[in-house]
Amino acid sequence: MRCAILADIHANLSAFEAVLRDIEGRQGVQEIWCLGDIVGYGPDPSPCIALLQQQPHTCIAGNHDWAAVGKLDIADFNPYAAEACRWTQEQLGREDVEYLERLPLMLTRGDFTVVHGSPRDSLWEYVVSTWSASDNFHHFDTRYCLIGHSHVPAVFEEIGEACKSGEMPATLKLGGNRLIINPGSVGQPRDGDPRAAYAIYDQGENALTHYRIPYDIEETQRRMTREGLPDYLVQRLANGW
Ligand code: ZN
Repeated sequence: MRCAILADIHANLSAFEAVLRDIEGRQGVQEIWCLGDIVGYGPDPSPCIALLQQQPHTCIAGNHDWAAVGKLDIADFNPYAAEACRWTQEQLGREDVEYLERLPLMLTRGDFTVVHGSPRDSLWEYVVSTWSASDNFHHFDTRYCLIGHSHVPAVFEEIGEACKSGEMPATLKLGGNRLIINPGSVGQPRDGDPRAAYAIYDQGENALTHYRIPYDIEETQRRMTREGLPDYLVQRLANGW
């Protein structure tokens, strides 16, 4: 079995389409595991939900998904995210809202727990340090946990009561210690590399392969500007942070 792991698409249709083309070219991927934040920030929330629904997939809720349908208070968002969220709310059709409302907070697939933020706080916590990762290893039972939310690809490895962090390698061999894995963001990377990020899990190889995919950033920026989305959100796509 091969699954594509996509996080934080953030209504960036151009990036999402480029990633789907790449997945098709690699063949043998049966399912997409989506780690939440399909919408928010980007200019195409409804088309991104529709495109995801056309794929065999499972998906969990991100904070932006639930904020867009009023299940979370946007008072907790920074001003740019809140403005983009209010705009997103106006774009969603009834079916989009029903889809986002029904997303679960967490699911399990084989050896993997799948959440958006962290297994301890699935909507809000950023796992970006060994300190938060070590605590979170106590909050899931499977061997591995897939997370998004920070938009930064990373791997955290449990070593006894300690924890080691590292960058996501091109190929991550599984089978050793327990891991918390972030594949990075499709639609708004924040690790200094503006290309879309995603991973493919190959059960037979027992490994994850990490990919960075160029896409038409300027097209997404043009569409955001046309929709009047905050310029700060437009500019950051080119910088990858
Ligand atoms: Zn996000």
